Amino acid sequence: MDFLRPATWREALEAKAAHPGATPIAGGTDVMVEINFGRRRPDALLDLTRIPELADWWEVDGVLRIGAGLPYTRLINELGDRLPGLAIASRTVGSPQIRNRGTLGGNLGSASPAGDGHPPLLAGDAQVEVESVRGTRLIPAAEFFTGVKRNALAADELIAAVRIAPATGPQQFSKVGTRNAMVIAVCTFAIALHPEQQRVGTGIGSAAPTPRRAPEAEEFLAAELDWAGRRPLQDSVARRFGELVAQASSPIDDVRGTAGYRRHALAVMARRTLSWVWHEHCSGRQECA
Ligand SMILES: Cc1cc2nc3c(=O)[nH]c(=O)nc-3n(C[C@H](O)[C@H](O)[C@H](O)COP(=O)(O)OP(=O)(O)OC[C@H]3O[C@@H](n4cnc5c(N)ncnc54)[C@H](O)[C@@H]3O)c2cc1C
Repeated sequence: MDFLRPATWREALEAKAAHPGATPIAGGTDVMVEINFGRRRPDALLDLTRIPELADWWEVDGVLRIGAGLPYTRLINELGDRLPGLAIASRTVGSPQIRNRGTLGGNLGSASPAGDGHPPLLAGDAQVEVESVRGTRLIPAAEFFTGVKRNALAADELIAAVRIAPATGPQQFSKVGTRNAMVIAVCTFAIALHPEQQRVGTGIGSAAPTPRRAPEAEEFLAAELDWAGRRPLQDSVARRFGELVAQASSPIDDVRGTAGYRRHALAVMARRTLSWVWHEHCSGRQECA
């Protein structure tokens, strides 16, 4: 197996163009498992860890640009206040060792329906910045996932970064697993309130072939919330929101849970996270408490 070690982003793009079959490797927490279990035997590995700008982040014109190689630990420590939903999700990934090595770019590269980074990216209207020697494309997160462990990358493209606006309202993430840590999600749910636009973002994980939004639930809730008056949430609204989120999923029965359980859990998580974000939106306002 060849081991390609570009020192610059340009070299990495040229190497990918010359070796489209090469498997990029960032933290290696997915790639090395696949190789060690004999599930993958690429002709070449394309090591991206020597490219400094890939493991950094910037704020440009009010939008965060998170390099594909930024490990979860740094994302949590350095961006937790600006991207609370993504930080909560990142804290649930694996163990400290996995969070030190694993990256958001790797999560997107694997495109697992159970990837914990994906639902907050959907709820936060993120765009995936992909690049090749041919140029750069911005792909909305909702269009990036094309099937089970499949994404919209062309053979010569690499993920450069994720672009996402800092939170302008409360965000939450909830994960159901068979235990509290080091677990592949049975299902997950992310919510983001965008009060300045009176809009709601959602993301469902591990309950469909790809991570996906719940558009009907978003529209219903945006119209029902009393954004300016901040009146308390009605039970009937929370219940209906939960139902619409569950309806947006298309889960299967597998070793981690049944489809029925996943739908039920999603409705519960949707109601619960909604009550948290609404409470936060209203914080300081007694009538909401
Ligand atoms: C013990 C353990 C626990 C885990 N727990 C969780 C968990 O709780 N939640 C969760 O979501 N995941 C979990 N994972 C999976 C994994 O840690 C994550 O998916 C992580 O984000 C992968 O990042 P990485 O940098 O290690 O990716 P890598 O393994 O380096 O790469 C993963 C995939 O992305 C591709 N890739 C990487 N970078 C790029 C790039 N810049 N451009 C294009 N393609 C790229 C690779 O070719 C590969 O296909 C766990 C893994 C292990 C081993």
